[in-house]
Amino acid sequence: MEKIANYIDGQLVEPTSKNYLENVNPATGKVYSLIPDSTDHDIELAYQAAAAAFPAWSTTSINDRSAVLSRIADLINHNLHELALAESIDNGKPVSLATQVDIPRAESNIRFFATAIQHFASEAHIMEDKAINYTNRKPIGVVGCISPWNLPLYLFTWKIAPALAAGNCVIAKPSEITPMTAYLLSKLCIEAGLPKGVLNIVHGLGAKCGNAMVAHKKIKAISFTGGTTTGAHIASIAAPMFKKLSLELGGKNPNVIFADCDFDKMIATTVRSSFSNQGQICLCGSRILIERPIYEKFKTAFLEKVNKMTVGNPLSPETRMGAVVSEGHMNKVLSYIELAKQEGGTVLTGGSRVTLEGENKDGYFIAPTVIEGLGPNCRTNQEEIFGPVVTIAPFDTVEEAVENANSTMYGLAATLWTSDLSKAHKVAAQIDSGIVWINTWLLRDLRTPFGGVKSSGVGREGGFEALKFFTEAQNVCIEL
Ligand code: NAD
Repeated sequence: MEKIANYIDGQLVEPTSKNYLENVNPATGKVYSLIPDSTDHDIELAYQAAAAAFPAWSTTSINDRSAVLSRIADLINHNLHELALAESIDNGKPVSLATQVDIPRAESNIRFFATAIQHFASEAHIMEDKAINYTNRKPIGVVGCISPWNLPLYLFTWKIAPALAAGNCVIAKPSEITPMTAYLLSKLCIEAGLPKGVLNIVHGLGAKCGNAMVAHKKIKAISFTGGTTTGAHIASIAAPMFKKLSLELGGKNPNVIFADCDFDKMIATTVRSSFSNQGQICLCGSRILIERPIYEKFKTAFLEKVNKMTVGNPLSPETRMGAVVSEGHMNKVLSYIELAKQEGGTVLTGGSRVTLEGENKDGYFIAPTVIEGLGPNCRTNQEEIFGPVVTIAPFDTVEEAVENANSTMYGLAATLWTSDLSKAHKVAAQIDSGIVWINTWLLRDLRTPFGGVKSSGVGREGGFEALKFFTEAQNVCIEL
């Protein structure tokens, strides 16, 4: 059985404990590879390697840093199909999605920051004839990046690329639930000639080696994407040590549909924004609010499309709905469907596990599920489910829609559908979320600020925001 290795000091190495965790293919329920069960000792080795590499990497010219990152991006492109297949097996997502979205985006993340660093400029502040100030943006040192399982290589590269481009040395931990593509990436980094110790990838449990990274006194910044509870725990350890922290956390995103929208485009996109990646994208809209005059029309058209969606083997090219990521996660999602019924909701379609045939008979599949009849304050509409489950509800006024949209502790993303531009702008401004899509969903420009408000996070990723996070701004003042 394949053993995943840590990538420390430019080498693929065993965990010092020699202990491994089982890695399950969620579409079959079978163990198919082994993951290093790393400890604080492995984190310390990674730290030593990163600290030793920092003086040279932080003073490597921007052009040379950019060139090696571009070579890694090229190699991701050359290995698209191998990486997409690995992502699909590890995560349960359709191989078509991994081929069209996850892996190309991982390549773009690295290519984007390889060039963004060449355009990253500092400000100067001139005090008339008295002085000149300029801002010196220096790499921080050794930084930690921790990523989740839902978009494994996509979110892993979204963090390490700006950190490396800005001249930091990195210790990165992918989710222990989906470690495979980060492992394959470590081989590509070696092939691309990334100097040893610049990037170190340590695999293992969050509570063990992830925690050790956060608690390490000399790792100066932590960029984390994952659940809100984990984020709060990380902040409680890192904040008293005055580490820089970027936290991208959970969501419970509203999708607000006004009667004057382009109905066909809205329906097609709403199916995607509800169930892409089995609903396991932090940006999926899970609370669909529909203006009452089109509520019944929406319900009929939406259910017709959802009923045609078939859950299938993620490795079949035609599959659009694969497995959810793990047995534990499947049980969590199913328990929320039971809760929704107890809270008075009606399951309009789906609502249960799907059993497939053959090698997928023990896989973790859930039918796309639509629930109605629930008010905004019930747990189903307040807590993040993070699976193929949405609720639908009518609203009568703009005020009611905004109040409902803002009623959770989360504030990551929202989607609005209307052809009234002025209403769109006004409502967008009233929504408490870091991102608002109008008449579209998940249209991403990597230069834009990305992140959430309230319990969805602190700080912004993307574009120069990420490069600012991974640098310390120093004011240099010269008296004239
Ligand atoms: P998680 O919080 O369980 O784990 C995320 C990562 O943190 C994993 O690598 C895990 O090993 C690590 N971790 C866990 N405990 C840790 C600890 N004590 N110290 C250090 N590291 C620790 O989240 P998950 O279940 O992997 O991911 C799903 C969550 O991620 C959802 O809540 C989803 O909304 C969120 N998410 C947010 C965004 C965003 O951009 N805001 C994007 C994707 C996913």
